[in-house]
Amino acid sequence: MHRTWVEISLSQIAANYHALRHVAGPCVHLVPVVKADAYRHGAIPVAARLEREGARWFAVSNSAEGLQLRDGGIQAGILVMGDFAPFERETLAGADLTPVIHSLTRLREYDSFARARGAVLPYHLKLDTGMGRLGTRASVGEILDAITSASSLRLDGLMTHFASASDFDSPQTVEQAAAFERVRQALAAAGVRPPLLHLSSSAPVAFNQSHLFGTMVRPGLALYGYVSPPSGNAPPLAAHVKPALAWRACILEIKEVETGATIGYNARWRAPRPSRIAVVAAGYADGVPHSLSNRGHALAAGRLVPLIGAVSMDLITLDVTGCPNLWPGDPATLIGEDGDARYDAEDMAREAGIISYAVLCGIGHRVVRVYGG
Ligand SMILES: *Cc1c(COP(=O)(O)O)cnc(C)c1O
Repeated sequence: MHRTWVEISLSQIAANYHALRHVAGPCVHLVPVVKADAYRHGAIPVAARLEREGARWFAVSNSAEGLQLRDGGIQAGILVMGDFAPFERETLAGADLTPVIHSLTRLREYDSFARARGAVLPYHLKLDTGMGRLGTRASVGEILDAITSASSLRLDGLMTHFASASDFDSPQTVEQAAAFERVRQALAAAGVRPPLLHLSSSAPVAFNQSHLFGTMVRPGLALYGYVSPPSGNAPPLAAHVKPALAWRACILEIKEVETGATIGYNARWRAPRPSRIAVVAAGYADGVPHSLSNRGHALAAGRLVPLIGAVSMDLITLDVTGCPNLWPGDPATLIGEDGDARYDAEDMAREAGIISYAVLCGIGHRVVRVYGG
C-alpha cells in the first residue's frame, strides 16, 4: 500500500543483539549504537525493543538524537558520542544525556557549565589514539590534571575508536589499544578509575577480539545484520547476525520496447533485443545510489534482474525480459529476499562503489517504515 517501503524485523534486531551479547560475555556491557535513526531502522522502535531485551545504554551521535530517545520514553543511559557545540549543553544536562568529551578545553567549559547549574554531571572522555578525528591527544599529565580539576563533573567512562578494525593485517588496532592502555594505567595509578572502558565497534565483537573489549562494547552495523568484509588474515566470524530490513518498491508500469529503444536520461541504455521494462517507484531521492545507473540489480518475480538506464530522482527502470508473470502493482525488491533470490545492502554497496553503512543510512524519508516479525 506504499510506493516504496522498508520492512523491518525488530525480532531479528533483538536476535542480533543477543548474538553479540553472547560474544561479549556476561562481564562486558553492550551499548547498542542507534545514531542516524538506528541506521534508518528507526531509533525509537529499535531502542524500545532493545531496552526490553535488557539494554542499559544506548549510543547516539548528537544531543538532538539523544533528546528524541528521551522523548520516545527511553529510560536507559544515553551516550552522545559525536561532540557538541555550546548551545547543546543545556539539552545534554536537561535530558540526562552523557556526553563524550573530546578535548580538555571542552572539559573545562563543561565543568563551568555544571558548576553554574549547581550539578555534578557525568561524562566519558575520548582519547585520540590514532583515528585522528575526535578525542584528546593531550599528555597523561595534562589529562589527569584536567580530570581532577573538574570538580563538578564525574568521569564515568574512558574510550577510544579504532580506525582499521576490519583490517587484520594492519598493526594500527594493536597500537591504538596499547596507547589506550598506557593512559588507563597512568590514570589508575593516580587513583582515577572510570568504570566504563570501551574501544570496540562491530568488527572486533563480530570477530571476537575479546582482548579489545574493555568493560563495554559499542556495536552498530552488526546489530542491523551486517559485518563489513574484513581484509587480511581475519579469524572466523563469531557472531552470526542477519539483516533486519528489506526495501521494496511498487512496479508502476511494465512496457515492451523494440530493439534499439533507449531508456532514461541521456539514453544510457539501448535495448539489445525486444525487451520488457519495469518502471519502479524509487529513485535517488529515496536513497537508491545514482552510481547504480546501468550497473545495479534488484529482485523481481523471484529473480535477480539488471537495473538499466540512469537512476532518476523518483524512478528506476529494470530489465524484466524473461519475467512474464510480473504486473504493475507487484513489488520489486531493492534490498532483501524474493523467493530464493537475495540482494542485500552489501551487494548494493559493492555495485555502487560505496559501503553498506552508506546504503542503509541513505534510505530516504519518503520510504515508509513497516514493522513486523
Ligand atoms: C558509529 C560508531 C560506532 C558503531 O560503529 P559500527 O561500525 O557501526 O559498529 C561505535 N563507536 C563510535 C565512536 C561510532 O561513531
